[in-house]
Amino acid sequence: MELKLYNTLTKQKEIFKPLQNNEVRIYSCGPTVYSFAHIGNFRSYVFMDNLRRVLKYNGYTLKHVMNITDVGHLESDADEGEDKMLKAAKKENKDPYEIAEFYSNIFFRDMDRLNIERPEIIAKATEHIDCMLEFVKQLMNNGYAYETSKAIYFDISKLDKYPVLSNRNLDEQIAGARVEVDKEKKNPYDFAVWIKAPENHIMKWDSPWGLSYPGWHLECSAMGRKYLGDEFDIHTGGIDHIPTHHENEIAQSKGCTGKIPAKTWMHVEFLQVDGGKMSKSLGNTYTLDDLQKRQIEPLAYKLFCYTAHYRTKLNFTFEGASSSMKALKRLREGFLKHLDGDNNVDEKTLQEYRTNFTKAINDDLNLPLAMSVVWEILKEEKKSKDFAKILLEFDNVLGLDLKNSKQYLEKEEDIPEDVLKLAAERKQARMDKNWEKSDSLRDEIIKKGYNVKDTKEDMVLEKIK
Ligand code: AMP
Ligand code: ZN
Repeated sequence: MELKLYNTLTKQKEIFKPLQNNEVRIYSCGPTVYSFAHIGNFRSYVFMDNLRRVLKYNGYTLKHVMNITDVGHLESDADEGEDKMLKAAKKENKDPYEIAEFYSNIFFRDMDRLNIERPEIIAKATEHIDCMLEFVKQLMNNGYAYETSKAIYFDISKLDKYPVLSNRNLDEQIAGARVEVDKEKKNPYDFAVWIKAPENHIMKWDSPWGLSYPGWHLECSAMGRKYLGDEFDIHTGGIDHIPTHHENEIAQSKGCTGKIPAKTWMHVEFLQVDGGKMSKSLGNTYTLDDLQKRQIEPLAYKLFCYTAHYRTKLNFTFEGASSSMKALKRLREGFLKHLDGDNNVDEKTLQEYRTNFTKAINDDLNLPLAMSVVWEILKEEKKSKDFAKILLEFDNVLGLDLKNSKQYLEKEEDIPEDVLKLAAERKQARMDKNWEKSDSLRDEIIKKGYNVKDTKEDMVLEKIK
């Protein structure tokens, strides 16, 4: 069955075919590791997981790169403000590399809790400075970049067309801009590819233009090219990347290789809170831990994401997420009932379900529709192992870890609020390295009948039997 994906570049759903044989080459914009990733961020990685799994379900093999931005992402996407990593390092009084390691570890722990498959290649920006410098040199040689006192800028007037992804009207935006335009820039929308480091900047590297560091957009273009070549199949990110980050990635790649790097550009809509944007800068974000404190498992959040198509906005409420937790429990129980069933199901019925499920996921990853097929199977009166088997097959796409349903249900118990509160306080104490406080909180938790097991980045509560 053909697979259709929506391409932001052509603004239509297109039949997907890899550029080379059976292998799909994908680049996903990954996290900037200066703080905890919130559930809005994870909506994009759940989408990324869905895409991977749908492609695999369709028989393709993957070469998928995701970057970790640990330098160069300034507060504003348009080259303004401080480097997010350095700002966090100052605030927490730590080395930026320590900050990066701490938040990367937590990010991957949360990816695992969401049962999100890890891309084949994880590329840290600070480990790829050489290929980034090569890219800048090539841009200079090709006449697409120029030097100012602050940075190496990309000259957008050299392009046949800019922008190509978004519909933004540059003339109108320039007329209405509130920020003073840098007089050294040749065009107001020229952007920094390589930034000269001020004296006190910690992360900086030697270059023909003195000590400096890469711009965020350049990181993705250079690392994508290194691992996937000048042209690859799919590039993903959140919709906020369309007007600046991805637009500029395309500009740079055209300047360097003459090509738009990816054939299909896919963007996931935002998770909202109370009908507005959820973002770190607005301070209205929740983490998976915040959900867990209210007995909402990470996988229930994943299921919650399946209540809307990835290209529509999804409004987060705790009520909505709690309903998904109940639904997840029903899904696990329903699966186990089928697993215990002795009825036979004819191949035609199974094939019909399979066709409907595949039609849904292959129509630009319509997960809400795919879930409706799953619920129909669960409602089947006749309990059958054949149904359990097909549910497991579908779970290769859904990634809800259905095979472990029994263990989840057995483990499930309501931990009292006061114990959860103590655990949260202890976690904070550990983060503050206040070991005395953390030990006394552990004693209080034990008195309330729970054992605390510390893992590398988290702690687990277990009832004392
Ligand atoms: P960042 O770590 O800030 O670079 O963001 C990581 C990813 O999360 C990017 O792909 C963003 O587009 C995406 N993102 C940020 N906020 C949201 C949100 N509220 N809903 C969905 N995706 C988001
Ligand atoms: Zn990127």
